[in-house]
Amino acid sequence: MAEKQSFDIIVIGGGPGGYVAAIRAAQLGMRVAVVEREHLGGVCLNWGCIPTKALLRAAELRHSLDEMKEFGITVSGEISIDFAQVVKRSRKVAGRLSAGVQHLLKKNRVTLFEAEAKIGGLTNGLRAVSLSTGDSITAQHVIIATGARARSLPGIVADGKSILTYREAMVPKTMPKSLLIIGSGAIGAEFASFYHDMGVEVTLIEAMDNILPVEDAEISAVVQKAFAKRGIRIVTGARLCSLTSDGNQVTASLEGGGTDLVAERAIMAVGITGNTENLGLEESAVTVDRGHIVTDQWAATGEAGIYAIGDVTGPPWLAHKASHEGIICVEKIAGLKQVHPLGAGAVPGCTYCRPQVASVGMTEAAARDAGHEIRVGRFPFVGNGKAIAMGDDQGLVKTIFDEKTGELLGAHMVGPEVTELIQGYAIARTLEATEAELMQTVFPHPTLSEAMHESVLDAFDRAIHF
Ligand SMILES: Cc1cc2nc3c(=O)[nH]c(=O)nc-3n(C[C@H](O)[C@H](O)[C@H](O)COP(=O)(O)OP(=O)(O)OC[C@H]3O[C@@H](n4cnc5c(N)ncnc54)[C@H](O)[C@@H]3O)c2cc1C
Repeated sequence: MAEKQSFDIIVIGGGPGGYVAAIRAAQLGMRVAVVEREHLGGVCLNWGCIPTKALLRAAELRHSLDEMKEFGITVSGEISIDFAQVVKRSRKVAGRLSAGVQHLLKKNRVTLFEAEAKIGGLTNGLRAVSLSTGDSITAQHVIIATGARARSLPGIVADGKSILTYREAMVPKTMPKSLLIIGSGAIGAEFASFYHDMGVEVTLIEAMDNILPVEDAEISAVVQKAFAKRGIRIVTGARLCSLTSDGNQVTASLEGGGTDLVAERAIMAVGITGNTENLGLEESAVTVDRGHIVTDQWAATGEAGIYAIGDVTGPPWLAHKASHEGIICVEKIAGLKQVHPLGAGAVPGCTYCRPQVASVGMTEAAARDAGHEIRVGRFPFVGNGKAIAMGDDQGLVKTIFDEKTGELLGAHMVGPEVTELIQGYAIARTLEATEAELMQTVFPHPTLSEAMHESVLDAFDRAIHF
């Protein structure tokens, strides 16, 4: 057995939570180890954020061919999709970024162990972590950043062939003719958009009344309409009773009877559950509640010296939330002054389907439920010069302000490049900006961002271009 190595911090999991925490800890002068059992970069770089965006870029290019004629460009000949190449490129992008993380860890002198880790006992203030390689390492602090995996529904087994999780859905060997997608959150909506653009007949099944149910209802309705117009079949308010495969086709039965839905394949996109098993937590005071580790605002668990960050701690299941929690956690461990807890209301969320969706802060319903008297601004992209020039003028920007204080409570967008725009409002939320500062801000012309300004103006009956 190798010599027992000791560190200030051991991070279990090399996803966007774990590797970012490790780099920040190294910057702060700590001796850091990362233990990763599969791929550096975690789900995000290998099976989530990045490869899906590579796939969606292919879909976007495919879609743009349909619009060429209006721009005076004729594409002659048959359009064909080399699907194997679409997937190959997505994997190449993921591989490149994963290798980039390895380089960053090395550059910051973070020691990497390629193994599965399990937390052990405490001796003289040092926590042991045993590795599947047979080694054991120790540290004063252990950060659990083990992420999450796809959840299923009772009685439904994703066999990886006909009934897929996001992993298989990202690397299909062939295109199905038809597809059922169960769950219309960000992951389900992105797959629906991608597969439909690739020529697949898609049915999106959602238990709630709207697709993208965590988004503002008005924004969800715009996406729902746009999806339906594209030919994506949407079934809402539909609870699944069973999903079975006979090897050739998948059949979904819904509660309340009605006709079964049938397709060649199905994707389960009904949420995720934390990787909390086999970590040795049973022996500790770490609390696991409904599949997620319970932490305080500094990522501390119930057991001194053990912390948890990212997807394993529960929603929102977002890479940037994981990274921020990692930074907050190690800065607190290092005793830095002025470390701020993560403001949940300032974490933006994006869905990269067509049309794109982005939001930060409270929905209109949540703001009302929280007792705010509100002012709501709306500005449609049909009133925005850049959107019209781009030929992409569907969607709107909605802003919600507290009537009394003028604080921006939430911003919700659907339309062109809104996933790039939302950051403007995230900064505003972080700075607790009011309508006055947002109105005074100069937005460049012609940009899509002008719709953000106009939405604020509209909340105070001052919109100029609509
Ligand atoms: C299809 C899809 C699309 C997504 N798109 C987006 C998006 O566009 N934007 C966004 O913000 N988020 C997106 N997400 C979510 C995002 O991927 C996660 O929020 C993010 O990866 C969480 O980071 P993490 O570090 O907490 O965990 P992970 O990225 O899951 O990393 C955890 C790591 O820990 C390792 N591990 C687990 N247990 C052990 C162990 N015992 N020992 C050693 N290693 C271990 C795992 O191998 C893994 O590499 C998407 C997710 C999916 C599935």
